[in-house]
Amino acid sequence: MEPSASLLTQRPIGRFAPSPTGELHLGSLTTALASYCHIKSLGGEWLLRIEDTDTERCDRQFTEQILIDLETLGLQWDGDVIHQSERIDIYNDYLREALAPLTYGCQCSRKSLARYWDNIENLSDLIPNKQRYPRCCIAKDLDKQQHKLRLQLPNYAIGFMDGIQGIQWDNPQQTLGDMVVRRQDGMINYILAASIDDGLQGITHIMRGLDILPMTTAQISLLQMLDLSAVSHWYHLPLICHANGQKLSKQNLAQPIDTRDPSALIAEALKLLQQLPVDLDTPERMLRQAISQWDNAPLQNKQQLAIF
Ligand code: GLU
Repeated sequence: MEPSASLLTQRPIGRFAPSPTGELHLGSLTTALASYCHIKSLGGEWLLRIEDTDTERCDRQFTEQILIDLETLGLQWDGDVIHQSERIDIYNDYLREALAPLTYGCQCSRKSLARYWDNIENLSDLIPNKQRYPRCCIAKDLDKQQHKLRLQLPNYAIGFMDGIQGIQWDNPQQTLGDMVVRRQDGMINYILAASIDDGLQGITHIMRGLDILPMTTAQISLLQMLDLSAVSHWYHLPLICHANGQKLSKQNLAQPIDTRDPSALIAEALKLLQQLPVDLDTPERMLRQAISQWDNAPLQNKQQLAIF
């Protein structure tokens, strides 16, 4: 069968979707740079979405700093920046409508679940996956507004081709169980918000850190449930680590990037991403050269990249 004209003419759309729980560090910068160069090398657009639904951990100051840093580095996004904190009504509409048949209220606390698993362990020799919600509340018909809301995830294996990590298979029900999509205080789960926005923004290419890979089959099922699927290409980048193997992350207090010499920083990040060197120049010219040389091949099947 011939691909439809719209698929042939569809412009690739990628995105960078930082959570402003801290400033950019070398790990998040490489994600931004790789997704930018990759989508631009395909002639596509690069959108910027601020994933700030977690009001306890996100901070407006970090958002502002991220925008300044990206601009200083010449990583100019296309179109307007989307702030998820301003879109809570949209996510709630999807929960109330398209996803309603698959959601249920849940009153289990961390403590009650710990008791549940202790009982199971006492009764059998099996080692349960405690990450997986045991569906205690699925038949209780609890008020959805008064309780946290869970979403039923499919109990079958979903496969997809990852352009960096190769073929992936996972059963989201076995790995995650029915995930909390809205907390009792109204906070929206980030993978729900990300799926809705990736769909609504027409994102075709998602390139992000390997730490999100365990959520991807849940996201693929969410996009199907929402009937919003445009994402056709997935790429999970190796994580940036110190020479001792420790992952660079906000939890590990990774140093914020220093943008006083943006050209040197771009050169360093490209080297870390195992790309061919570019001539030291203005960030804009360096990025143009990096785009023309961009190659995913050196990243293939790698899970970590160590800072030299
Ligand atoms: N907001 C997530 C983060 O900063 C990224 C989610 C995604 O790219 O899908 O880790």
